Amino acid sequence: MKHLILFDVDGVLFDVSGSYRSVIIRTVEYYLKRILGFKLPRGHIVCGKDIDALKYFGGFNDDWDLTAGLLYYYLDLLDLPSGVLLKRSNDLEVNLHQLSRWKKEFRASAVPERIQTRRLKKFLENIPCRHRGLDAIIRSVGDKAKNLVFYGGKLESTNIVRRIFQEAYLGRKCFRRAYGLTSKFIKSNGAYLKEKPLIPKTVFKKLTEQGHTLGLVTGRPRSELMPTMDRFQMDMYFSVVVPVDVVWKEEKKKYQRTGRKISLTKPNPFSLVYAIQAAKGRFDSVFYVGDQPDDMRAARNVRKRYPKVKAIGYVPDKDRARIQQLKKAGACVVANDARSLFEILS
Ligand SMILES: [Mg+2]
Repeated sequence: MKHLILFDVDGVLFDVSGSYRSVIIRTVEYYLKRILGFKLPRGHIVCGKDIDALKYFGGFNDDWDLTAGLLYYYLDLLDLPSGVLLKRSNDLEVNLHQLSRWKKEFRASAVPERIQTRRLKKFLENIPCRHRGLDAIIRSVGDKAKNLVFYGGKLESTNIVRRIFQEAYLGRKCFRRAYGLTSKFIKSNGAYLKEKPLIPKTVFKKLTEQGHTLGLVTGRPRSELMPTMDRFQMDMYFSVVVPVDVVWKEEKKKYQRTGRKISLTKPNPFSLVYAIQAAKGRFDSVFYVGDQPDDMRAARNVRKRYPKVKAIGYVPDKDRARIQQLKKAGACVVANDARSLFEILS
């Protein structure tokens, strides 16, 4: 039996709780405190469960979108002063200056203690099923919140949320290498250095020795995927790699052709279809191993075209609620350690 085994990366190959997940929290808090000037309570105002709630809601495969979504939601809860109208400029300094003029007013505004996960979940439950991802949040919040979140457009000027995120994730050196820019907000080492493998290399080695073809299908850009793969010397085991750049390219092409913006990120099956076609082989089964409900939904969506695809959940922290969520989203089976995952796949 020869299988094509495709893996999601974040939360499956690598533990990203100290990297992407902590950068989401750091970016939200930095933006509220340093950019908008709010006085925040002690401790974190966002926790992992809030991130899980948005991931479960769906359409948040992109952590930049998720960060912006949390900011929109949080700002919508606040009693903001009226009359704040901020125009987007092509100059980052002009944008920051506009925002800084409101800092005094914001500092005096009431700030809730922290995001209450239960309230966030209720907010999400009330959004109609046909809307998912950042669009759904934007539709549900008021203009004041929308106006204050500088997200979208260029990292050099208007996309302040993404700039903070990338600076925190990459650190000074890698940020400069990736974008040719000097870090403006975050001066510490890149959070990517805190990533750790969740599956030992020997598992991939044994699976390839058994004749299976391995691949990666991830929401990470190639520029953030390959350094980590190199660092842990895992790149040689994966003959198919589909980073999010491939998805962005196709979205752009579709936009140029139709004038419509559509999302092809998971749960859309596009990246899985792309990987299966790139693998160019005959396989007895195709597995997609993921840690999020959208991974399971993507595998389910691809089955209309490739019925052999099976969704495998991987929850190494053994979180019971997430195991249930993955099963509900279409997982055939959920492994909670590397050994049981190997047994399922081999
Ligand atoms: Mg993941």
